[in-house]
Amino acid sequence: MPYVVKNLFNTKDYKCSCQGGWLGHWRTGAGSQRETCSVAKCSNEATVGAHVIFIDKRRSKEWWIAPFCHTCNHPNMTGPITLNRRITLVSANKSKSCEGSGNWKIIV
Ligand SMILES: [Zn+2]
Ligand SMILES: [Zn+2]
Repeated sequence: MPYVVKNLFNTKDYKCSCQGGWLGHWRTGAGSQRETCSVAKCSNEATVGAHVIFIDKRRSKEWWIAPFCHTCNHPNMTGPITLNRRITLVSANKSKSCEGSGNWKIIV
């Protein structure tokens, strides 16, 4: 099953000190040099690490980072977004990732 998520906006105040911002954060956590957007059927270049949550209520409300292109990260994209099947999500919680004790929380 591919992940179905919602993009969170108003996340400008959430910064991380990873080189390359949240996209760099995602690359480090996922161990990936992937260049393309993680949204299904989109092959644009990823330019940001987007904050997403699962819309499936059975899953936790944690925030995750996924690489998005400029178009997919548009605030008009308020509905559910299906991600590419093989995407790794990296925790947006810094204490469970770049400012933690070394183990990055990811889901594959
Ligand atoms: Zn980071
Ligand atoms: Zn895209």
